[in-house]
Amino acid sequence: MLAPSNQELSLFSGLQKELIQRKTDGLLRQRRLLDSPQAEHIIANDKHFLSFCSNDYLGLANRPELIAAMQKAAGDSGVGSGASNLITGHHRYHDALEKQLAKFVDMPAALLFSTGYMANIGVIGALMGRHDAIFADKLNHACLNEGAYLSRAAFHRFAHNDVIALEKLLKESTAQHKLIAADAVFSMDGDIAPLAEYLALCEQYDAYLYIDDAHGFGVLGERGKGSLSHLNLKSPRIIMMATLGKAAGVAGAFVAGEQVVIDYLIQKANSYVYSTPAPPALSATLSAAVKLIENGDDLRAHLRLLIATFKANLTLKNWQILPSDTAVQPLIVGSNQAALALSEHLQAMGILVPAIRPPTVPVNTARLRISLSAAHSVDDVLRLAKAINDAEKMMIANSATTSLETV
Ligand SMILES: *Cc1c(COP(=O)(O)O)cnc(C)c1O
Repeated sequence: MLAPSNQELSLFSGLQKELIQRKTDGLLRQRRLLDSPQAEHIIANDKHFLSFCSNDYLGLANRPELIAAMQKAAGDSGVGSGASNLITGHHRYHDALEKQLAKFVDMPAALLFSTGYMANIGVIGALMGRHDAIFADKLNHACLNEGAYLSRAAFHRFAHNDVIALEKLLKESTAQHKLIAADAVFSMDGDIAPLAEYLALCEQYDAYLYIDDAHGFGVLGERGKGSLSHLNLKSPRIIMMATLGKAAGVAGAFVAGEQVVIDYLIQKANSYVYSTPAPPALSATLSAAVKLIENGDDLRAHLRLLIATFKANLTLKNWQILPSDTAVQPLIVGSNQAALALSEHLQAMGILVPAIRPPTVPVNTARLRISLSAAHSVDDVLRLAKAINDAEKMMIANSATTSLETV
């Protein structure tokens, strides 16, 4: 008897239906094929683009020094870790990077994870349990929520940056242990969480403060130490996570906090214990990248100049740029279709900016997520601002003609 072809299995009919629905709703996501290193000028789907898509905020992803560091480290440490950290996978390069990162962010200890996603699910899953409670900003990154679900703790979400709502939840909670989780810089909005207020609440209600600094590390604070340095915050209650695939330009993540917290995570964070660490050569490369961050005040100054230039050169009437002083500059245009149309219009002009749609952002706040990098030139940013200004003018002119016609 012939087995039915894969397409015909009834198991798949639900999947197919959902894919078609996504496409109808303007929500189907598609990958582009990249044929160049990640940079400000890229080749994607066989075309050249000026790109505002990457999180490589300091332009380190393609730095010759780091390429050389990775090649050298692969030569003396190989290409694979070969075993989990607690067996024989913990290489001296991993260890050296952990110590370097802890020192850099002024924390007692640090622990490497293969990705930020794994760090968040591992740490929250390990620290919190069924008698505990997690308090999370509604706009937090998806993997913080995932960690909360895995932990089986009670999960309370509060409106974006709403300190009063958070306090109300904390007051009502009878949980054994409490943890407040927040992005420091919100990945789709670019604004900074009120972390000083959160820390005060943590002290009052005896809670941990878990900070995801994926978009602040390398960019904000003294020498790029991140959002905690930017806001001048320090406390043994704070556990910070930062990714190493964004401003650091490579891959991975680390968690930093008190020694006892890190010791506990080494035993209990499942995504650490039961997973093969990233290759030691990546850690050696990251050690060089962290040095570039530390000595990167000129890169950060250039990035700030680009942010100011971009904002100063927009002449928007209907569309809205969110108030952000970070490298993430979101342009809110409303409907999924409008965001997609603008992204496609810019793409036709050789400029790549991703349209971000629900469920990544709330319904009716579809946006272009413009991401600036120290690798951009002032001219690159002026070209983007002009293209956006012109597109809006064209849209206003078009809708004026349409309404005239309907009169
Ligand atoms: C990118 C990101 C992560 C995930 O980090 P990866 O290393 O890419 O897995 C976690 N949190 C936030 C806020 C992020 O933007």
